[in-house]
Amino acid sequence: MNTQKTMEDIVAFAKRKGFVFQGSEIYGGAAGLYDFGPHGVELLNNIKASWWKTNVHDKQQYYGLDSAMFKDPRVWEASGHVGGFSDPLAECRTCNTRIRVDKELERIGVHADEKMSEGDINALFTQHKASISCPKCGGHDFTDARAFNLLVKSNLGDFTSKGDNPVYLPGEACQGIYLNYKNVVDSMHPSIPFGIAQIGKAFRNEISPRNFLFRTREFEQADTQYFVRPHENKDAYETIKKDRWQWYLSLGIDESHLRWKQHENLVFYASDAWDIEYDFPTYGFDEVEGIHDRTDYDLTQHTKYSGTDLSYNDNGEKFIPWILETSMGLGRVFLAVLSEAYDVDELGGEARTVLRLPGHVAPVKVAVFPLVKNKPELVEKARGVYSELKKHISTVAWDDNGNVGKRYRRQDEIGTPYCVTIDYDTLESDTVTVRDRDTGEQIRMPIAELASYIAENIK
Ligand code: ATP
Repeated sequence: MNTQKTMEDIVAFAKRKGFVFQGSEIYGGAAGLYDFGPHGVELLNNIKASWWKTNVHDKQQYYGLDSAMFKDPRVWEASGHVGGFSDPLAECRTCNTRIRVDKELERIGVHADEKMSEGDINALFTQHKASISCPKCGGHDFTDARAFNLLVKSNLGDFTSKGDNPVYLPGEACQGIYLNYKNVVDSMHPSIPFGIAQIGKAFRNEISPRNFLFRTREFEQADTQYFVRPHENKDAYETIKKDRWQWYLSLGIDESHLRWKQHENLVFYASDAWDIEYDFPTYGFDEVEGIHDRTDYDLTQHTKYSGTDLSYNDNGEKFIPWILETSMGLGRVFLAVLSEAYDVDELGGEARTVLRLPGHVAPVKVAVFPLVKNKPELVEKARGVYSELKKHISTVAWDDNGNVGKRYRRQDEIGTPYCVTIDYDTLESDTVTVRDRDTGEQIRMPIAELASYIAENIK
């Protein structure tokens, strides 16, 4: 039996099993903010670790970074966010609910995006207003669309005391990479082409946060910026696109649930832009990552606004590098991985919920059970196995509650690849049963081989 997945099931599951909770829930919940629970944070950290390994450790000439979230306010002017980081919003005249016009047009099958001019988007909006309903009152009477800036303002000692500009929370994480490009060049002396990778938080005043982790007001981005010589962008861009696609497959995502989408409406400086989209339950295909060929825009802008020369000196030849960017939302990837892994099947004649996560991202790698908990010699033996495994495997669970079948089901639900049971034979032969999550099959194995077997199989 394979049930059709819905996002409603996944949201409920994520809460029930300690993956994701609504932000500030005990105060009634905060829109567009989510907290990762005990299992969620493990899954999230494992996804980040996999991304870091692929993009920093396994690559030559890629450097990691972790920059401060607060930045000189001029950064956001140079980047174009103060002037142009906006969504086209309209307000329902009946109940004052605000809608994002580009997204509403897309929803009814009209091509639109947030980069269109106000005039162009309003022309489309006027034409199709009758088919767009207010999500609150169902009405069709809207104001014209106006640009609404997404940057979140804050205040911070030194910067706000200078008066002129507000301080912003980062609207995107990658600006920290541009700000440290020169520091990395001067300290690490990379030869071009080279990359810088960073995971960081971003904040956007999304007017209608919706679709669970898909559109939130606070989220994490994992970005790489690859610096190449001017005009030497095309081949590298294709290689980066291929690498990024492969990474999603390594998270257990089936290729049929991924697709490429090329941007039709490029920002003026970009040379090319593609999104990787995932086929989310209920929502359908939507963006998880953007891969952008950005020419020399970013470093040229920061050279201009900061007065610091950000050109690269290649044996006396000076130029501003061009940048190929990958920018991925970790919340969206987390949701894609969870949606992909979530399954309801039948095992041993019973329905079960199972997360078919690849071992390297599973929150718990192995669970250890004494067959019964009222036999001290079994419990003691199992404790020994548990302690030994903990020395080698990052996350090991202990469960002695209820019958073994129920314990298997609990581990299946959170995606634990292996369960180890210590039974009476263990006391005689120093062997245990190892049960596989996906097939339910059990094998018997010497305790001495357990840690390396599990480590090898969750790689
Ligand atoms: P969208 O068109 O969906 O608003 P975007 O094109 O503005 O997204 P980028 O600015 O390119 O997104 O950001 C890079 C990545 O950051 C996106 O691919 C997405 O995964 C993630 N992201 C962007 N906005 C949000 C958000 N509000 N909530 C969660 N993730 C987001």
